[in-house]
Amino acid sequence: MRKKCLLTPGPTPVPERVLTRMAMPVLHHRHAEFKKLLGEVREGLKYLFQTKSEVIIFAASGTGAMEAAVTNTLCKGDPVLVVRGGKFGERWADICKAYGVNADCIEVEWGKAVKVSDVAAKLKEKSYKALLVQATETSTAVKHPIKELAELAKATDTLLIVDGVTGVGVFPLPFDEWGIDVLVTGSQKALMLPPGLSFAALSERAWKACEKSDLPKYYFNFRKELKNLGNNETAYTPAVSLIVGLHEVIKMYKEETLEKVFAENARMAEATREALKAIGLKLYAPESPSEACTAAWTPESVDGAEVVKRIRDVYGYAIAGGQDKVKGKIIRIAHMGYITRYDIIAGIAALEQTLVDLGYKFELGAGVRRAEQIFGD
Ligand SMILES: *Cc1c(COP(=O)(O)O)cnc(C)c1O
Repeated sequence: MRKKCLLTPGPTPVPERVLTRMAMPVLHHRHAEFKKLLGEVREGLKYLFQTKSEVIIFAASGTGAMEAAVTNTLCKGDPVLVVRGGKFGERWADICKAYGVNADCIEVEWGKAVKVSDVAAKLKEKSYKALLVQATETSTAVKHPIKELAELAKATDTLLIVDGVTGVGVFPLPFDEWGIDVLVTGSQKALMLPPGLSFAALSERAWKACEKSDLPKYYFNFRKELKNLGNNETAYTPAVSLIVGLHEVIKMYKEETLEKVFAENARMAEATREALKAIGLKLYAPESPSEACTAAWTPESVDGAEVVKRIRDVYGYAIAGGQDKVKGKIIRIAHMGYITRYDIIAGIAALEQTLVDLGYKFELGAGVRRAEQIFGD
């Protein structure tokens, strides 16, 4: 009977007013009422992506739009450069492999951001059709330097394709201003919706590349969707209720303004980092932290998997653990979307209780106090 809270880097909590909108009877997607709403959503997505370009919508999780970015802009055998510093970087490489795109990978140590100079050197060595990277590599809570990478890509014929699933709506990624070529996101992270929608914005260069792309595609077809969106429709039945929810989410973002949302996320990220350090935990990615989520090593004396399980099962706060090589060794806490500074404080309190239960020695309350100090500054 107790309230539960998601502090996971996807899915994140869905606001009550969004849940209420989505509970309304389903609209028909070819009727005027829905088309009007979709027209407003199209405009709202441009606000969120900070672009004048159309944002394509698919009924899929974030990976759907990642796959579409590859299959719509590239050709068989194209050489591309992938930044591989975690599970999502690996996903770019896997998608390329599945479609016969030749990916060279820059292997980035987990917990570190890619070095701009390393990318520059690679781009000098060889002419790449695209550079694929994450805005936040969510598996390691690292933020990659997208603005700098965009500058490099702009000076070449290389398309910059960014997985912004934990970037769009979290921190600034001004699509037009920075000259990103493809920017992708999903519904269940900063957009505070249930999973099931994915999005992609394309630059003029990227739209040109779509005309030449010869990779197989059917449902995930950017050009077909662009044509349909002009008429406030999607090619196939959209996830109507999620789009209604998105309409409300966009209203919330506009009421608060992107600038304020970004500032608050940065504040929550700082408070989380400082609180974890005050408890005595070591940050996993201290040099290039993201405003989307924070990762820290769990103490050696406790089993990281047990921390994640206990804080959820006993205290009702869901956080994420590590994947692959850091499975059972790190925790990840999200601070984006419908998460407030008081959720962070409560989450830190629950973490402290959990660590006490598991026998870790530290000054109880130190993390909560530090977070409150950051918020009070
Ligand atoms: C969550 C996430 C995705 C999308 O994963 P789905 O499970 O397909 O929604 C992609 N990239 C990053 C960086 C993510 O955090």
